[in-house]
Amino acid sequence: MVRRADGYYAQFCVDVEREIKHEYTGKIVGIDLGLEFFYTDSNGQTVANPRRLRKSEKRLQRLQKRVSKRKKGSANRKKAINRMARQHLKVSRQRKDHAVKTAGALVASHDLIAYENLQVRNMVRNHKLAKSISDASWSMFVDWVEYFAKLHKIVTVAVPPQYTSQDCSVCGNRVQKTLSVRTHQCLKCGTVMHSDHNAAKNILVKGLEVLGHKQSTDGQSGTYTPGDENHLWLVEGNFGWLSGLVEPGNPRGDSMESAAIFGTPD
Ligand SMILES: [Zn+2]
Repeated sequence: MVRRADGYYAQFCVDVEREIKHEYTGKIVGIDLGLEFFYTDSNGQTVANPRRLRKSEKRLQRLQKRVSKRKKGSANRKKAINRMARQHLKVSRQRKDHAVKTAGALVASHDLIAYENLQVRNMVRNHKLAKSISDASWSMFVDWVEYFAKLHKIVTVAVPPQYTSQDCSVCGNRVQKTLSVRTHQCLKCGTVMHSDHNAAKNILVKGLEVLGHKQSTDGQSGTYTPGDENHLWLVEGNFGWLSGLVEPGNPRGDSMESAAIFGTPD
């Protein structure tokens, strides 16, 4: 039995080995988690922020404020705390629901997913814009992406976030901008695109570079264990399918190719 703010729940553990047969699509993707959109991928596709969740989160904030205004030990404070706790539960359920659905769909339709290392990102990027509430949603989402990726046996890579929003994904030129600038505009090559789309493209390239770089430095076949410094893992090492994933016409095709060559271990 578990006690939650809105009652008691019976919890059952069902011990079933979940196994999912991943349909390899040949699709690789970089994603940029943001405030304007929940995420934008390297193809320019966006997933919206769930409005229902935003509303619940705002209500939670109001209820939290109300608790702090009530006198300690008072009956009113107790009531306010209970309300806050219920809303907290609602938010976390909605957040989980959204994270599970979005992550599941993303993993099922891709063979490789690159995203930014959130812990590092919070230090690198201007954090004033990003609310702690978004951080909670993002990290839950990333956890579920990792979970599903393991079930599907696909590759994920968390990349260092430095310059992913600044660099031009087409020519590599560094275009300084603040997070509030929503358009990436490169004076060198003339590229104009949504800044999150530009960032997502950089994240994908960086992810592939990380994979390729690891391969060339240790000279070994591409088996990695969970939890190494790049938060990188490859399951069972069957990566024949990764070759031939070089995006046609990508100006950084060479770095993508080097990442794709790591082939199969043994
Ligand atoms: Zn450029």
